[in-house]
Amino acid sequence: MKHIGPHVSASGGVFNAPLNAHEVGASAFALFTKNQRQWFASPLSEAEAEKFRQTCSDLGYSADFILPHDSYLINLGSPEEESLQKSRNSFIEEMQRCSQLGLTMLNFHPGSHLKKITVEECLDRIAESINMALDKTAGVTAVIENTAGQGSNLGFAFWQLKYIIDKVQDKSRVGICIDTCHTFTAGYDLKDGYESVWKEFDEVVGLEYLRAIHLNDSKKELATRVDRHDSIGKGFLGIDFFRNIMKDSRFDNIPLILETPDETLWKSEIELLHSFE
Ligand code: MN
Ligand code: MN
Ligand code: ZN
Repeated sequence: MKHIGPHVSASGGVFNAPLNAHEVGASAFALFTKNQRQWFASPLSEAEAEKFRQTCSDLGYSADFILPHDSYLINLGSPEEESLQKSRNSFIEEMQRCSQLGLTMLNFHPGSHLKKITVEECLDRIAESINMALDKTAGVTAVIENTAGQGSNLGFAFWQLKYIIDKVQDKSRVGICIDTCHTFTAGYDLKDGYESVWKEFDEVVGLEYLRAIHLNDSKKELATRVDRHDSIGKGFLGIDFFRNIMKDSRFDNIPLILETPDETLWKSEIELLHSFE
């Protein structure tokens, strides 16, 4: 059986995330472990962390199917020294928070060059940032999300993901999250070339690095390099694409996360997707 669930709210306390996931019949979920618009948060108390771990275990959520996402402020490839330092410190804090919560992955966007350094220089910084974070933490895998390539965001081309992985020292703690909307608008035709895109991903990066999928339809067409999610079956990827994913056994043991815009549809999206299995 596939493990599917949305990126849920954790407002009022991280333990609310598994409760919100359970509410919509999810068997996986994503969350921000702190306010995503802040650089740093006050430390989690041990009581809060324990309440989260207990709620997850009561509701049957194992860490394998929980995918925390880091703050949008973080740019691990920043061309500016000050913001790079701040990003690195904030990222390390997020990794530590995950391990305190009993979580084993942290999903993040690679970074942006802001047109001030070259693509390779930016990718080098990202890899170095990951190495620094892995050095200072234990038990949490850095899960790089591919992007749509909007603005100067990197990680939209598979070779860029591979370039980063190649420079990460501990390959056992780095992985990839494929966002289906980002992949499509980055120019990989998951709709009409389903098999060939996954084959290319396997050849360039390696399916063994795939740790999660963000299951989103796209409001924008192929190769537009724009990041606009749509509800399942309502966008340019279309319902047959999601049918293919659900029938694909390669994705049985990873979290499939919905970041679809209409949360009133989450429950029915999850049911619909399971009906394709
Ligand atoms: Mn993301
Ligand atoms: Mn995503
Ligand atoms: Zn997106």
